[in-house]
Amino acid sequence: MKRIEKVTKTYESEEVLEHKCDLCGKDLMGSDPHFGSFDFATLQIEEGHSYPENGRREKTIVDICADCMRTKVLPWLAQQGVTPRTEETDW
Ligand SMILES: [Zn+2]
Repeated sequence: MKRIEKVTKTYESEEVLEHKCDLCGKDLMGSDPHFGSFDFATLQIEEGHSYPENGRREKTIVDICADCMRTKVLPWLAQQGVTPRTEETDW
């Protein structure tokens, strides 16, 4: 026999409360988190190891607004000889 009743469960989840450019402090959230702007960059490095029985990975992440990416980061990368790759997506 199964006895079934409705129960209310509570759980914790992570929500982004603040998302700002790490260079200039510009708000990257927009007014609607579901339909906001996608005009920001995330630079990250992932470092770690993977073994058959386990693994470990560490990410170092920097969030940058589009203006800082275009006016500060990309020019600096160009000075280092980097030519960025571009991709377009339509939906
Ligand atoms: Zn910025």
